[in-house]
Amino acid sequence: MEFSGKLAQFMREWHERWGPYAPHGSLQVAMDRVESAWAAYTERLHGNYPFFHPRYAGQMLKPPHPAALLGYWAAQAINPNNHALDGGPPTSEMEKEVVQKLADMFGWGRPALGHLTGGGTIANLEALWVAREIHPECAVAYSDQAHYTHGRMCRVLRMEGVPIETDFDGRMDLDALERALRKHRIGTIVVTPGTTGLGVVDPIDEIVAIAQRHGVRVHADAAYGGFFTLLAQGDDPMLDPAPFRALASVDSLVVDPHKHGLQPYGCGCVLFRDPRVGKVYDHDSAYTYFTSDELHLGEISLECSRPGAAAGALWFTMQLFELEPDRGLGPVLAAGVNAARDWATRIRESDRLELYQWPELDIVTFFPSKVSRRSDLDAASARLMRSLMEAPDPCYLSLLTLDDRALQHALPEMEPDRENARILRSVLMKPEHEHAIEWLHDRVSAAL
Ligand SMILES: *Cc1c(COP(=O)(O)O)cnc(C)c1O
Repeated sequence: MEFSGKLAQFMREWHERWGPYAPHGSLQVAMDRVESAWAAYTERLHGNYPFFHPRYAGQMLKPPHPAALLGYWAAQAINPNNHALDGGPPTSEMEKEVVQKLADMFGWGRPALGHLTGGGTIANLEALWVAREIHPECAVAYSDQAHYTHGRMCRVLRMEGVPIETDFDGRMDLDALERALRKHRIGTIVVTPGTTGLGVVDPIDEIVAIAQRHGVRVHADAAYGGFFTLLAQGDDPMLDPAPFRALASVDSLVVDPHKHGLQPYGCGCVLFRDPRVGKVYDHDSAYTYFTSDELHLGEISLECSRPGAAAGALWFTMQLFELEPDRGLGPVLAAGVNAARDWATRIRESDRLELYQWPELDIVTFFPSKVSRRSDLDAASARLMRSLMEAPDPCYLSLLTLDDRALQHALPEMEPDRENARILRSVLMKPEHEHAIEWLHDRVSAAL
């Protein structure tokens, strides 16, 4: 894609349409100062890890697709504000369209209520706030593998948060959930289709059934895993469809286009299945208002000013990458899952590495084998990660801390000379990882 040319042409046409004007002298800067500031700036930017490159297989990080950048920059140069329809009519329209497409992806009926947010954190805050307004005085239950934001936001909202134990694979334990439902007044259960640490999917179908029996709401934190729902669709799904299908009947849902939707940071999304929750935002508004097409985004969002460019970038990207299992975004995500399965298979066959858990999505966890004490395991994992990133031909992984319970279960023979220990974790979220696994595995094996 010829990038800067397209952008420059669009900007020229946009400006010329409105006639000449003279920029104010106060905004002029001397070119030599631009040059030196630019040199200093770009030098500092080189201090980043190479998130775009397959050699970076550490945290949940990757750059946006070039199409998303082009879409973002074109709108950003105009700088519409999706706070109100007048702040940017075209990008506000685009926001409604992409929000509806996301709701459609989860099999929701129309119209859904929702909007884009700065990210998953604020989107979850908003969903929990609505949960509190609907069930005041009630607690929120989330698994002990849920994102830490839920515990923190319960404190922000002064709600009781109830962590629910997980099984040894990291999924919410249903007996523990039933016990908690008897013991606490729970109004909302948070399910996670794809935990941030291990990338495992809660048994959402079973949790939804339990919640319906108890008259409790369900919120899905699909910030990371939401788009994987595509791989649970179609005739020959790559992932177990049952938990993802159940997302069609949760009450609210958060998904981050800036994680697996090819977007730059600043693009989360919150959805509410029943548009009537809109009345929670503004008691003066008529209920019908929120089911009509004239949805006023500023009135159903906790954030006021929001970048129209984020909506524009997502809209443009979705023209090119449909939310489909076998074309568009589906194959992008499938490549990461294939990469994870490929690496897990190689690790299982290796005598220097041990797989911690078979990957459900695109996160692989493993550790150096033949270690007899927790302190040695922890040190060996940290040493391996560091030596890989400091090598002349580096690669980048991350670390995951296992607690006492997980270690006792997974490594019962290991001497428990400390409470917890770190192992290695790799998020294979770029499709290029599909063809980089042999290289990554060789790097790691050689570093041992
Ligand atoms: C990343 C993540 C969040 C937080 O979202 P941000 O976009 O980083 O604010 C919340 N929940 C889950 C499951 C996540 O993976």
